[in-house]
Amino acid sequence: MIMTAAEPAMHGGCVAVLAAALAVVPAMAGAALHGEIAVDIGHTLAAPGATSARGRSEFEFNLDLGREVTAALRVRGFSARLINEDGLIPSLKARPQAAKGARLLLSIHHDSVNAFELRPWQWQGQALDYNDDFAGHSLFVSRDNPDTARSILCARIIGARLQRMGFEPTHKNGRRRAYADPAHAVHYYDGLAVLRHAHMPALLFEAGVIKNRDEEGLLRDPARIARMADGIATAVAACLLNGQPADDEPTADGPPVLPSSE
Ligand SMILES: [Zn+2]
Repeated sequence: MIMTAAEPAMHGGCVAVLAAALAVVPAMAGAALHGEIAVDIGHTLAAPGATSARGRSEFEFNLDLGREVTAALRVRGFSARLINEDGLIPSLKARPQAAKGARLLLSIHHDSVNAFELRPWQWQGQALDYNDDFAGHSLFVSRDNPDTARSILCARIIGARLQRMGFEPTHKNGRRRAYADPAHAVHYYDGLAVLRHAHMPALLFEAGVIKNRDEEGLLRDPARIARMADGIATAVAACLLNGQPADDEPTADGPPVLPSSE
């Protein structure tokens, strides 16, 4: 789930090539040769985001994946800084401020659905709600970020890497958010504070839909979390070490490409 912000102008249909995407990057355990990545844990203890179909807060999902992502980045020779690990960060703006000096800001979230799409159910005596219609990851970038080109490149490489590993994207957010890269479920969300106030390339990752009862189970599976984190770290390394964004990446888009209705 994402907090706040304005609608971006319609855009989409990026056709630029994924330059050097998914290049093989050797593991470099213990080293920090390649600079620092900031990994932001979305939401807080006081405002923990959506509640899963089985009653777990989004913040807890974000924390589990964010910790694995930092571990995987360290294996690849980055230092990694967790932002908001304690869930006590005071504001949205404090997140990009805490990322100062990092090469990339990666904000970790898990997705929900619209309130009207929820259905009630009982689980272990609790009255909860769910929606099994949508599943999968998606990514968001802001054109108000100072390095939109690199932000888009990193987002689409993460999407490409995850899809190559068998993770499936969702196009549920294409109903409201224009695409930067439809093939990899990368959307524009210009007004997101955590992205637009960052001084470095930044992207927001929605790992999956926690209101979906099957996907919730997958998103809680430690082996799968580690595998997804490994894919993200591989893609970040490819983007920052080998990737070359097109000069016109943020403006190279053709006419809007909207998904077929779901
Ligand atoms: Zn969220």
